[in-house]
Amino acid sequence: MKTIIGILTILFLTGCQTQQVSPYDFAAVCKALPNQENAKLPLSEASDDWFQVYEASEGVFSIVEPFHIQGTISHLIVGRDRALLFDTGIGLLPIRPVVERITDLPVTVLNSHTHYDHVGGNAEFSSILAIDSDYTRANMAGFDHATISEDFGEEAFCIDPPTGVDLSSFHTKPWKASRYVKDGEILDLGGRRLEVLHVPGHTPDATALLDADKGLLFTGDTFYDAEIWLFVPETNLDDYDRAISRLVDIENKVKYLLGAHVSARVDTGRLAKVKAAFRKLRSGDFIGELTTTRSFLRVDEIEFTTSKQVLEGKQGDITKGGSGLDTWD
Ligand SMILES: [Zn+2]
Repeated sequence: MKTIIGILTILFLTGCQTQQVSPYDFAAVCKALPNQENAKLPLSEASDDWFQVYEASEGVFSIVEPFHIQGTISHLIVGRDRALLFDTGIGLLPIRPVVERITDLPVTVLNSHTHYDHVGGNAEFSSILAIDSDYTRANMAGFDHATISEDFGEEAFCIDPPTGVDLSSFHTKPWKASRYVKDGEILDLGGRRLEVLHVPGHTPDATALLDADKGLLFTGDTFYDAEIWLFVPETNLDDYDRAISRLVDIENKVKYLLGAHVSARVDTGRLAKVKAAFRKLRSGDFIGELTTTRSFLRVDEIEFTTSKQVLEGKQGDITKGGSGLDTWD
C-alpha cells in the first residue's frame, strides 16, 4: 500500500511540473478594487477619476493607476524644500496636475527603471535624474505605438478608457535627463534624505530608494505585490540575484515596502520569500510550463513571469533599450 501511495505521489508531483499557472487575472483584480492593501490607506483628495492617490506614509503620496492592466504606481515623496517623483506613470493622462494638487514645491523626477509604464509622464518635467546607462539613454527616445499597443486594447482597462485619448496611436514622449545619479547618492529633499540604490536585474537601470529615517524601501519592479516580471531580453538573472539579495539585507531595517505596481505599500517580510523562491526558480524547482515566450511559473506562493532564454542566463542587446513588453523573437 505504501508503495502504491509512493508511486501515486510521484506521478502527482511529476504531473504538477507541467501544470499550467494562470497569468495575472486582471478581470478579478478589477472586481476587487480597491485592493486590500490600498484600502487600508487614506485616499487623498488629490485623487481623480483615473489616478487614485494613497497616503502611504507621512509625506508619501502613492499615485496609483488602478484601472489599467499595469496598475502602475508612482510615488511622490515630499520634503521641506523639494519633492521627488519616483516614476511618472503610463502617460495616458498627464500626472503633473495630480502632483500639483499635492505640493507646490519644485519636483524632481527619478525613474525606478525606464520601462514604458514608468516614464509616461517624464516629458512633463524638466528636472529628471537618471542612471547613466546606454539602456536608459536609448529609452529616452520614447516608445512608439507598435511597441506598446498590446497594453492599450479595451481589455487592458477596468473602466472606459479616458475620453479624448486616442488609444490607436498612443505612444510615450521623448525626454531628457538633467543629471545622472549614482548608486549610494543621497537625495536631500530638506528634512528628508533618500539613498539611491542602483539594483540592476529587472532592467540594467533598475533603481530602489531607501528612506532609512522613515523606514521605507521603494523597490520599483525588483519587488511589487503581484507576479514578478523577469522575461524581457534586458533582464539579467545574475544581476537580479544580487539586487534582491541586497534589498533583503535592508528589509529588516525598514517597516514598509513600496513597489511600483498594484499595492502602494506592504509590510516587510516579503523580500526574503521572493529571494528564496527566485533561487528555487533558477534551480528548475517550479510549477508551470517554461517556454520561449512569457511563461507563468509558481514557486511556493510566489509567481513569476519569465522565459526560457532569461532562465538560461541569456541577455539581449541592452544598448537598444526596451519597453518592458518586448519578446525574444
Ligand atoms: Zn513595471
